[in-house]
This record gives sequence, structure tokens and C-alpha cells, in this order.
Amino acid sequence: MGKILVIGCGGVASVAIHKICQNDSVFDEMMIASRTVSKCDALKTKLDGGKVKIQTAQVDADDTAALVELIRSYHPDVVLNLALPYQDLTIMDACLETGTHYIDTANYEPKDTAKFEYKWQWAYHDRFREKGITALLGSGFDPGVTGVFTAYALKHHFDEIHEIDILDANAGDHGYPFATNFNPEINIREVTANGSYWQDGRWVETEPMEIKRVYDFPEIGPKDMYLLHHEEIESLAKNVPGIKRIRFFMTFGQSYLTHLKCLENVGMTSIEPIMYEGRPIIPLQFLKAVLPDPASLGPRTVGKTNIGCIFKGIKDGKEKTYYIYNVCDHQECYREVGSQAISYTTGVPAMIGAMLVMNGKWRKPGVFNVEEFDPDPFMDALNIWGLPWQESFSPEIVD
Ligand code: NDP
Repeated sequence: MGKILVIGCGGVASVAIHKICQNDSVFDEMMIASRTVSKCDALKTKLDGGKVKIQTAQVDADDTAALVELIRSYHPDVVLNLALPYQDLTIMDACLETGTHYIDTANYEPKDTAKFEYKWQWAYHDRFREKGITALLGSGFDPGVTGVFTAYALKHHFDEIHEIDILDANAGDHGYPFATNFNPEINIREVTANGSYWQDGRWVETEPMEIKRVYDFPEIGPKDMYLLHHEEIESLAKNVPGIKRIRFFMTFGQSYLTHLKCLENVGMTSIEPIMYEGRPIIPLQFLKAVLPDPASLGPRTVGKTNIGCIFKGIKDGKEKTYYIYNVCDHQECYREVGSQAISYTTGVPAMIGAMLVMNGKWRKPGVFNVEEFDPDPFMDALNIWGLPWQESFSPEIVD
């Protein structure tokens, strides 16, 4: 049994917090700390009364000293960072200073450059090792479960994996002409960036949305999907020996793409500050303010997500293909925890990662990605905590 400090109280955190409350044989105390404490208090009011004792606090996670003070006063066993990628380093600094295990779901990204990379966080490895604490990076769905699927495929189904295609389909319909399913600023920065994939030991860069395929997803049907750069490609390229190619595809509907193009064309997705009525504003942040809050999409979103990985490689000298995926229903998630499937598919693995660090099954000193641990306890937990997985040994292949 132990204490967890959750930082951030948005869409993903809300799901993780519900799941922590359900998992009361591992967690017995939780503090929810975020920039806007009223959101933490509202969740506490909703969830109080169970076995997990909840406290709340206001914290600015950009401020390491404030985080250190909070951690020292609460003494959590683990810190689960569900704020934004901009806060990863300040929170890691505070964990280092206080000797507390760290878990997150997205890699660090500087506010002023739309470029996410692991190099900043991997640079903490020696300091975490010397302090004897674990940092578990990217314990969401993608990154997160996709890395665990890879470790599982490597452990149980392949001698060598040569190709990985990660396919992320969202067939949910929220009824708005344009909205994003998670933080709009982070989402739009990701999809307007150049695409890239890993091939033969190097990055191949593409124009945004340059590579399109159609895939017939189990339980969803055929969808247009586009190649994007995605953060787990970087860690999997490092951690899967003999890998030749890793690609990531995400589905987008035509309405989303048309709106995005228009917003881009008029400059609304830019992160360069402009002067407006005498003060600097960042167009993308202004756009975020006028778009629907992703947390409000839950009640209106119907349909399913399907996220998984197709592997090609060698087993016992023979070529083999294997597909492992999860299908998640937006309305079922909403009925259970009041959120749509995008937050659910991230919040559940965040809780599982925190649980495995907390109970010691995934603890080793240093900074690690999910695929560097034994996948089996995580795979079992996915089935228990709401994200059961399915497999296929003769999947349709992406050309
Ligand atoms: P939200 O915007 O809904 O929530 C972010 C939360 O962080 C908000 O509560 C916000 O506070 C809080 N926050 C932001 N800045 C600070 C700060 N300086 N100090 C304290 N709190 C702060 O985002 P999501 O829940 O959608 O996403 C959370 C994380 O999950 C992101 O890092 C995102 O990239 C990641 N993610 C990962 C996925 C994966 O599969 N691996 C998929 C989807 C998301 P306030 O309420 O005041 O705004």
C-alpha cells in the first residue's frame, strides 16, 4: 500500500484518478495537485467516500521549489505527472531532489519549439540511478501500451522483430465540425509537424500528412490514416535490437483535416507570438481557448478507438506477422469514469505504470521507457483495468 501524488487534473488525470480509487489494494492515499485547484476539489468531492484517502493542493509545476516543498510535505511514494509535456523536467528535478519515483505519459517538449525528443529526459539517467529511484517514461497508450505490446511480442512471439507499424484509429464522433480529443495545443503541434519514420538506422522525414494509407480496422472498418512522427518510435528504435523500420499512423477524418488546413493557412496554429491590442499572444493558445474543452466531449462522443501494433519478424527461422490491439468504446468509458476513450486509453496505463512502480514490479534505478521492463504484469493489468487486448496472426499488412 502506498501514497501517490498526481500532478495535473485534466482529461487524462481524471481517468487515472478514478482508476487509482478503484485500485485500493495498491493505493491507499492520493494527493491531486494542479494549477487550478478547484478542478482537483471537484474530483475529490465526486470520489471521496472510498477507501483511498484524497487530498488536494494548488501547485505551479513549472516551479521546482514549489514542487519540492509539496513533495516534502506529503511524502508520496511515487509522483504521476499528468500535467503537460512542458513540466516534465521541473517535476523530474523535484523527484530527484526528494528521492521520489517518477512516472509520465509524454516526453518533454520546450514551449517555444514544437519538437519533442527523449534526449532531455534520458540525460537524467545517471542521476536517477545514483539516487536509487525509477523514472518510467511514456506510460500512456501511445507511447506506453504500444511499447509494452512490443516488449510482449519480442518476449513471446519473435526471435527478432524487423518492422513495426503502430496504428492509432479513432472512429469516435463528437458531433462538432472541429475539436481535438486531448489538449488542443499539444495535439495540433503534433499533427502540423513534419512526419517521420525510422528506417535502416536513420530518420526519414516527410511533409505533414504526406503519406496516406487506408486500413480496415477490426471492429471499426476502413479508415484513412496518415504517417506522423511519434515519440515511441525514438525509444523503440533504441530498445528493439535488429529493428529495420518503425512507422506510426493515425486516422483523421476529412472534416478535421480541412479545418486544420484552413486554421494553418490563416496562421491560427502558429506558436510564434503576435501583438494583439498591445500585448503578445500565441495564436495556437488563443485557438485552444475557443475550441471545445476535450473534457467536455465525453457525453457526446460515440464510436470506438482501435490502437495497436503490427509486427513483422522472425520466429524459429520463419517469417512471422503478428497484430496486437485494443478496441475501446467511447460511451462505455463515459459511463464508467465520465470521460471519452482518448483520455481513458491514456489514464488507465498511467495508473498501471504507477502501480507497477509502486508495488516494485517495475522498479530499477534510472530513467527507462516502458519496453525496458517485463511486459507480462502490465499486459495482465490491461485486461483487469479496462483495456483488454486482442491478437491476430494473419493481419492485413500496411504497404
Ligand atoms: P489537459 O490539458 O486536459 O490537462 C493538463 C492538466 O495539467 C490541467 O489540469 C492543467 O491545469 C495542468 N497543468 C498545466 N500546466 C500546469 C502547471 N504549470 N502546473 C500545474 N498544473 C498544470 O491535458 P490531457 O489530460 O489531455 O493530457 C495530459 C498529458 O497526457 C499530456 O502530457 C499529454 O501529452 C499526455 N497524453 C499522452 C497520451 C499517450 O497516449 N501517451 C495521449 C494523450 C495525452 P489547468 O486545469 O489549470 O489547465
